[in-house]
Amino acid sequence: MELRICHLYPDLLNLYGDRGNVTTLARRAQWRGIAVRVIEARLDDPVDPDASDLFFIGGGEDRQQRLAAPDLCGVKGPALREAAQAGAAVLAVCGGYQLLGHYYRPAGGPDLIGLGLLDLHTVHPGPGSRRIIGNIVVKETGAGRILVGFENHGGRTYLGPKARPIGTAIVGSGNNGADRKEGAVWKSVYGTYLHGPLLPKNPWLADELTAAALRRRYGDIVLEPLPDLEEHRAATAAAIRAGARGLAWPGARAQAPERPA
Ligand code: GLN
Repeated sequence: MELRICHLYPDLLNLYGDRGNVTTLARRAQWRGIAVRVIEARLDDPVDPDASDLFFIGGGEDRQQRLAAPDLCGVKGPALREAAQAGAAVLAVCGGYQLLGHYYRPAGGPDLIGLGLLDLHTVHPGPGSRRIIGNIVVKETGAGRILVGFENHGGRTYLGPKARPIGTAIVGSGNNGADRKEGAVWKSVYGTYLHGPLLPKNPWLADELTAAALRRRYGDIVLEPLPDLEEHRAATAAAIRAGARGLAWPGARAQAPERPA
């Protein structure tokens, strides 16, 4: 079994160490004895929709987004749509998240047309407007699992009827600082404003993305749980530092078996 990851624009869209999400996905698969292949797709690189099962795109400032947007829609768009429709997992963070929507209206200049994978649009309120910056804690819609991270964006994102939020910002602002929603999900496509990087402290989401990617190629697989003792401790500490109180936390196993090096 092999986890096939495509890292989009690793050189252009990688704010606040977002590439750590790819490292986390790879290491967690390797800890489970699953082979990993990471392909990088930069500007002008074509994407093969059948070669990868998990696509990652990180954050970036308006300038980097302006460079990436036409390539994302033109060169890579049809393949990414085909892969997502066929069940591939996608994780998009902040600037990458905004470009998965219909458009991003930056602080200045023309709208950046997005991939339209997620039913949403983003508008920057303009130069001099308040940036949304700070620690953020999100409670997942439905299962109530927690995500912790850091947000730093000027754009305000608004979901359309075909997108559902990942959850509610119980600390911090989330998509737009008004409706308390954070992120967006469609099939196995996840967009979020959470930097950190996101996945090291939020292993449940890393495993959801991995399971979706492997299911696309191998059918109904079950991921062996990992101890995640340190991950839960780090997430709990981050949530408390952010000001979240009284969160029930999935108990990590008392004895974390030694991990392979
Ligand atoms: N440039 C976008 C904004 O300001 C995204 C920023 C980011 O990726 N952190 O909203």
